[in-house]
Amino acid sequence: MTIKHHLTDALLMSYAAGTLPEAFSLVVATHVSMCDECRARAGSFDAVGGGLLEEGPVAAVSADCLAATMALIRETKAERAERKPRVAGVLPRPLQDCVGGDLSAIKWRPAGLGVKQAILSTADGATARLLYIPAGSAVPDHGHRGTELTLVLQGAFRDQTDRFGRGDVEVADEDLKHTPVADIGEDCICLAATDAPLRFSSWLPRLAQPFLKI
Ligand code: ZN
Ligand code: ZN
Repeated sequence: MTIKHHLTDALLMSYAAGTLPEAFSLVVATHVSMCDECRARAGSFDAVGGGLLEEGPVAAVSADCLAATMALIRETKAERAERKPRVAGVLPRPLQDCVGGDLSAIKWRPAGLGVKQAILSTADGATARLLYIPAGSAVPDHGHRGTELTLVLQGAFRDQTDRFGRGDVEVADEDLKHTPVADIGEDCICLAATDAPLRFSSWLPRLAQPFLKI
């Protein structure tokens, strides 16, 4: 797996500082678990943040799937080598911990035009969902009111900017308008997080938006 599209320094720094909404942290943690380069960068920000934290009061951390994720990121290589993978599957471990298994544990709901989604339970402030885009299908043309992080877990998609394969993460903001289309040959599964509703161009997805929470 060659990862071409990585997280920004700003995202990794906010992640290390613990200031990201939970849904974004989940995407960052999942990418970091797949990507040696971002894991090293996150580690260096962590060391800086750790130094600062020693001076100040200790912050309380919520006890949820994120805590398990953070523990996983911090474990040493030896510990990682010792631990047996829970399920060898499509979902990286931080996501398996959230979903409670691999793909078979996901309760997909139709989101229109063959696309399916499963909204993950995370704290307020941003929404995380798994998206299932059948091979050759598209997510309707849309813009963004905030930030959208999309991490590919299976297959690949292409949009106006580039092609994104397994492990790649796309960081979209207000300036980007795109139509992600899954590659022909394999259904595409992504983890996506948004902190504001998308801006769909056509009326049908706009009508469905409140129901899909997208
Ligand atoms: Zn990376
Ligand atoms: Zn988008």
